[in-house]
Formats: sequence, C-alpha cells, structure tokens
Amino acid sequence: MPQYEWRCHVCESANDAPTETCKQCGFPFKASSNAILAARAAKNPQARAVYPHTPNALERLDIELGSLPPWRQIIAVIGLLTSIVGGILIKWTFSWTGALIGLAALLGGVIVYLAAVHTGKDASSFHVRPVDQNNESS
Ligand SMILES: [Zn+2]
Repeated sequence: MPQYEWRCHVCESANDAPTETCKQCGFPFKASSNAILAARAAKNPQARAVYPHTPNALERLDIELGSLPPWRQIIAVIGLLTSIVGGILIKWTFSWTGALIGLAALLGGVIVYLAAVHTGKDASSFHVRPVDQNNESS
C-alpha cells in the first residue's frame, strides 16, 4: 500500500496515499515496467515511438504483412522462405551450380516478397488517389 501521494504511471494523475489503483484510469500503483509500457502504448498509440521496443524479425514481418490481404501474405511468406532456402543452399553447397541455384532462389524469393508486399500497397493507394485529373481533361 502506498504511504504517500503518488502519480499514476500511465495517465500521470495524482492519487491519494491509501488508494492502490489510479482513480482516473484504474491502473495499479504497483506494476511491472512491461505492464506500464504496455498500458501507455494501449492508451496512446503514438507513445510506441517514444518507448521504442525494437521489434524482432517476426514482429516486423507481422507489421509489414498485417495490412495485406491473406493471399498476398502467403505469396510474401513463400518468397521469404524461398530466399532463406536459397541463402542456406549458398552456405552449404560445395558446387558452383548449387551456389548459383541458391543465389537465384535468394534473389527470386526477395523479388517475389517485395512484389507481394509493395504491389499491394501501390494498388490500395490507387483507390485513394483523387479523380481531379479526370475532371480537368473533360
Ligand atoms: Zn492513471
């Protein structure tokens, strides 16, 4: 139990000594730093940039693919896996032919991945584009 007036970790409003949860947002006085950061991020999405939690490769993939339709996600993942297999092949093969196949798979996979991710973004921005040009030409 807090012995003094305390400031909420999340919303920063002042709370009186005996209370253990914030009267403003209900966040507990005692909380782990992870819980505090998570609550702040949930309260204010822009705060994520202020408290950078470096996303690991999988999370980054999820962020990049999250906005895509499922079939594009599948193509992107297939491209990514192909490039990974190609990279492994380059490392493990002992022949030039194997290394070339690996390199082709690596580059091809990357191209497929980028195409799947970025073509989708271009296509969706097409719909947002204003129709001013059509009006001017008519
Ligand atoms: Zn609060």
